[in-house]
Amino acid sequence: MENRDTHVYAAVPPSPVLGEGEVLVATELVGPGRERVSCPAAPLVRGVLERAGRPVRTGPAELVSPAQDSAFQVAVDRLPSDDGRRIAVAAGAMDSEGRSPLAAACAAADAWVGVAGPRTVLLASPRSWCAGVERAVEVVERLLEEPGRRGRPLFVRKQIVHNTHVVRGLERRGVVFVEELDEVPEGATVVFSAHGVSPAVREEARGRGLEAVDATCPLVTKVHAEARRFSARGDTVVLIGHDGHEEVEGTLGEAPEHSVLVQSPSDVRDVEVPDPDRVTYLTQTTLAADETAEAVDALRARFPRLKEPPSDDICYATTNRQNALEAIVPGAGLVLVIGSANSSNSLRLVERTRRAGTAAHLIGDATGIRPGWLAGVATVALTAGASAPQALVDEVIRALSGLGPVTVQEHSTAVENVRFAPPKEVRTP
Ligand code: SF4
Repeated sequence: MENRDTHVYAAVPPSPVLGEGEVLVATELVGPGRERVSCPAAPLVRGVLERAGRPVRTGPAELVSPAQDSAFQVAVDRLPSDDGRRIAVAAGAMDSEGRSPLAAACAAADAWVGVAGPRTVLLASPRSWCAGVERAVEVVERLLEEPGRRGRPLFVRKQIVHNTHVVRGLERRGVVFVEELDEVPEGATVVFSAHGVSPAVREEARGRGLEAVDATCPLVTKVHAEARRFSARGDTVVLIGHDGHEEVEGTLGEAPEHSVLVQSPSDVRDVEVPDPDRVTYLTQTTLAADETAEAVDALRARFPRLKEPPSDDICYATTNRQNALEAIVPGAGLVLVIGSANSSNSLRLVERTRRAGTAAHLIGDATGIRPGWLAGVATVALTAGASAPQALVDEVIRALSGLGPVTVQEHSTAVENVRFAPPKEVRTP
């Protein structure tokens, strides 16, 4: 390829020599005079290689003399701009079958060079962490930092929030995530996640002598209280939500004998209730507003005296993120939503955009972006679900800037100043 220079580089210490079949995706190149050239698109290249099953490492690469030991080949792809961006990959030794990984590494780099160019990023606001997620993460962090607890394991039942980066970050700090309470030793401290738990789980924790700290979002707690109140007055509670989601399991657990789950309008015809005049609906907090309205309409058609919750159960953060994205979608050729695959509010953002006819993809981070998505796309709309940290948004913008100049235009449709006080167990006296 005419825009590629091949030089010999070595990984900058302490990064060791590349292993068999391994590829280095350079995050920066260090020249002979110690000058540094940035390679912001490294996560994009890395994603292509990882999906192809290549062992990949990222880090700086330094120009060395070809005669020097521990050197390996680097292909430097010059981008069409003159402002110093590079996409650079290096290949280690042949694999056990005598194949050099250089061809695969160069193909991954070329895929991104092929879609390089200037872009506009329309940034939705509000996006990223909501008050409930901030509070849940803060609960765990405060417990980790409590002097009396240092050195003792801290357990969290389920993912504290639905984001793998957040969970891995806390795991690195010593938090142990478990699926069920029987994995927690008696007497230990366990945190309940932001999605809430059923009374049966609380009872199990008490029975096992666990110190339970509840990080349930107060807006989920509100729905639990409604389920208790409406079932206690003799209503059947129809919960609109997604089967298997932890929040739904927790809410249904408040009144299992008097609750029915409805996932879509078509489920409504199968709903059996003892008294059609005594039915109240509630919803999961992170649903798409339009789909939920369809389910409510179907319920009302079957149960004309259907009662509703006193205030919307779909939370402010979910609604704000949907409205913010909707406002920028018309100007974009592609929508990227940052969030993990089990994040309900993030999935709803993707689904709503697709229903409106625009290409949309959920990405865990910048490595999830595919070159083909950007072909011919000059404007990208970007947002992040309520459990995805802002740092991942910054990483995606930076990665796109490795393909050409990026102009960021932030569009705000609401100002969020919601804060939830932490539970009493972690309040500073
Ligand atoms: Fe609470 Fe809504 Fe955030 Fe869920 S998305 S944690 S319900 S504020």
